Amino acid sequence: MQALVLEQSDGETIAHVKPVSPEMLPAGEVTVDIDWSSLNYKDALAITGKGKIIRQFPMVPGIDFAGKVHHSEDPRFHNGQAVLLTGWGVGENHWGGLAEQARVKADWLVPMPEGLDGRKAMIIGTAGFTAMLCVMALEEGGIRPDSGDILVTGASGGVGSSAIALLSALGYTVTAVSGRGTTYDYLRQLGATSMLSRDEFTQDSRPLEKQRWAGAIDTVGDKVLAAVLAQMNYGGVVAACGLAGGFALPTTVMPFILRNVRLQGVDSVSVPAARRVAAWKRLVKTLPEAFYQHATREIALAEAADGAARLLKGEITGRTLVKIR
Ligand code: NDP
Repeated sequence: MQALVLEQSDGETIAHVKPVSPEMLPAGEVTVDIDWSSLNYKDALAITGKGKIIRQFPMVPGIDFAGKVHHSEDPRFHNGQAVLLTGWGVGENHWGGLAEQARVKADWLVPMPEGLDGRKAMIIGTAGFTAMLCVMALEEGGIRPDSGDILVTGASGGVGSSAIALLSALGYTVTAVSGRGTTYDYLRQLGATSMLSRDEFTQDSRPLEKQRWAGAIDTVGDKVLAAVLAQMNYGGVVAACGLAGGFALPTTVMPFILRNVRLQGVDSVSVPAARRVAAWKRLVKTLPEAFYQHATREIALAEAADGAARLLKGEITGRTLVKIR
């Protein structure tokens, strides 16, 4: 089978597509023939070696994939069954989805939800799944469409684009924060009603600013998240899932103790199975058909390494789908 293989040479990460014997696949109960994978921020960090994602080499990256069961030693899965996978450390410490086959634990697989196919599942991918978890976090914090406006940061990226499409379809009024003015038409197509420049959020903010947002989904962290917290309405909820701008959080306790603001962390890697299935069902039901067209760029496995470098340079909007076979 063909796989994108990451190796180390003089401390540098080298990425090559090359033939790999399926016998080398790691242990697991289910072998999957992969049809589609995608490029996420974490994949880009892993493939370029710009983030310390991979600790054992050689490694096949790809934190998500969709395909059909090739062989299963677990009674829950049968040959030919359509499945998808996100998270669980696959593509980080267990060979991942940027390959024609993967062997994984049965517990990690999600049967393909009704109404979805492998291609659509990977247009959504880890990014869209995480966006759904963020929306669920806002809802669980009591935020409804009539609570007020919702802010989405890192808006033109995979998580941000998916979050805008989901929130807009659910009837929320969405403001998008983007570092690229060229993305505004795209963000409007997804359903954002207003756009703000990232520059407005990267200055040092005061502990409390004018109240503007009922809810926020932050994919950026650092000063941007600090500024968002300072602008939240009384009782507002922020779902924080990302660090595209940095992992620091230079804030104060003021938004929490004076405005009752809630900061909810969102992880997609180790989400329990029942919540995964619930989130995928909501994604299928909520995302409009137009999302699958507007938010997607398709590449071949051989283009994945270049795609990863471009993603980190901020040259890509929305989702990058990788066609494996
Ligand atoms: P993308 O690269 O697709 O999007 C990130 C976006 O953030 C960019 O498009 C850009 O949007 C903005 N951005 C990029 N660099 C900076 C910067 N230096 N400062 C501020 N903004 C910046 O990545 P994803 O959408 O796949 O992931 C977004 C974040 O969410 C990542 O940090 C990722 O690790 C995290 N994540 C976390 C998950 C979890 O389980 N918690 C799961 C999935 C992702 P614009 O140009 O519009 O400003």
